[in-house]
Amino acid sequence: MKKQNTLKIRFLGGVGEVGKNMTAFEYGNDIIVVDAGLSFPTEEMPGVDLLIPDTTYLEENKNKIKGYIITHGHEDHIGALSYVLKDVNAPVFGTRLTLTLIENKLKEHRLNSVSLNSIRAGSSIKLGCFNIEFINVNHSIAGAVALAITTPVGVVFHTGDFKIDYTPVAGEYTDLARISELGKKGVLLMLSESTNVEREGYTVSETVVGETLDKVFNANLDKRLIIATFASNVHRLQQILDLAVKYKRKVAFSGRSMVNVVESAKRIGELYVADNLIIDIDKIKNYRQEQIVVISTGTQGEPMSALTRMATGEFNKVVVGAGDTVIMSSSVIPGNEKMIYNVINNLYKKGADVLYETLEPIHVSGHACREELKIILSLVKPKFFIPVHGEYRHLKKHARLATTLGVNENNILIPEIGSTVELSSKSMKFGEPFKAGTRLVDGIEIDGSDSVVLRDRIHISEDGIMVVVVCKDMLTGQLVSTEIINKGIVIGDDTLTELSSLLSKSLDGVDLHLDDGITAKNHIRRSLKNYVFKKTKKNPMILPIIMEV
Ligand SMILES: [Zn+2]
Ligand SMILES: [Zn+2]
Repeated sequence: MKKQNTLKIRFLGGVGEVGKNMTAFEYGNDIIVVDAGLSFPTEEMPGVDLLIPDTTYLEENKNKIKGYIITHGHEDHIGALSYVLKDVNAPVFGTRLTLTLIENKLKEHRLNSVSLNSIRAGSSIKLGCFNIEFINVNHSIAGAVALAITTPVGVVFHTGDFKIDYTPVAGEYTDLARISELGKKGVLLMLSESTNVEREGYTVSETVVGETLDKVFNANLDKRLIIATFASNVHRLQQILDLAVKYKRKVAFSGRSMVNVVESAKRIGELYVADNLIIDIDKIKNYRQEQIVVISTGTQGEPMSALTRMATGEFNKVVVGAGDTVIMSSSVIPGNEKMIYNVINNLYKKGADVLYETLEPIHVSGHACREELKIILSLVKPKFFIPVHGEYRHLKKHARLATTLGVNENNILIPEIGSTVELSSKSMKFGEPFKAGTRLVDGIEIDGSDSVVLRDRIHISEDGIMVVVVCKDMLTGQLVSTEIINKGIVIGDDTLTELSSLLSKSLDGVDLHLDDGITAKNHIRRSLKNYVFKKTKKNPMILPIIMEV
């Protein structure tokens, strides 16, 4: 009897973490990849710019890959594409705004041989043995979709990132009618996002933010307004632009990504900008403060962002002072608290007033809370369930929630990065894991998360570096001179003198003429290390350099 094929779902990222979402669906000789996101490094990874999924598996199965399906344009869903496409090129599918944001990235990476295919919510495409239907959902970015993937074993419903907003600012509602139709016909497996599973109730509508911002505009008629928000949240931008018109203010954008997104969103009609509303940031000095709204990047306190530089007085285009009210219209991404509160403190020091999430509802989440997750579960009524897009505790809680809504406990799996789930029309189980993990990107790519480069950076950042230069005569091998250069170590003159004599002593027994350098370097390290530790309680990186003169 011919062995029944199963659908293999491979998790490359986005489970056990919030970030770098990437899932591959494989059946026979066909693979489709849903999302290709990045995440940002933690403080334990100095100098690393971003993290992307390890895509070795995709590289090894290049010829099976039929395309990338992108649910929406957030970094945790599109951020890795420019890197992944370099190794595994395949057509990319997404809604217009999603593709526009991807296009900007591909340009930066000079990737111009990628096929970008625009799709609409309500339509479907066929890739290999898969039929993929796109379903409109609300989220904190326009053009977000959920996916109904018809596979040879049954229908798989993937929520993407979503919330249920009955009063969205623009565009359609989450298409509950279509979702319930799919549920009635029978959904074999649902993958649902878990970000806000710990929050009771419903997510507040985006419209409420507009109402709060209106109050803020009204209460600050004599102030300049500086609003920091995510560039990709075009519905938020739209509300701010509309309020600027209402209160007869001009708008200036600051931050490169902000200007890029506004341009793109305007071009494809996702953002309506009234005539003569926008002025160049260099022109704001020609207006009175109460005639201006500055919309800026830097909601997370990113060191190089416009807002952070305003707060420290390094951004001369916008000099912040007592005439300013700054509004942080964004959430605090866990891990960024320190940087964000730094910026807020500095803005207060400059005399500005600052409004942020904990004080006013000037931001709402783009992710479904418990009641919304329940609605989707009860409409879709999947036989099998896999919670995704969350840290382990989110996934665990979402799994529990699903059981209370009738999903059999044995029909739920919580995958990790590298897990393969095998799905047939009758069963779901873990299969053989595959090679997966994290790639670190630092301008160039560093391989492996325990890389030597990282360890060195942490070592140097904590304990400093000591460079020991030893000059020897090229012909005789005689010691000519020594020098010790310290960076990041607090060291007294006495200690330095002592170190110099220790250094000379350490080379006494070494024949520099015959030495290949290794013996001498080891002698130097050993003799200096203990003494430095005794004096400074630090263990700096000691880097001996032997030069011939
Ligand atoms: Zn998102
Ligand atoms: Zn996301």
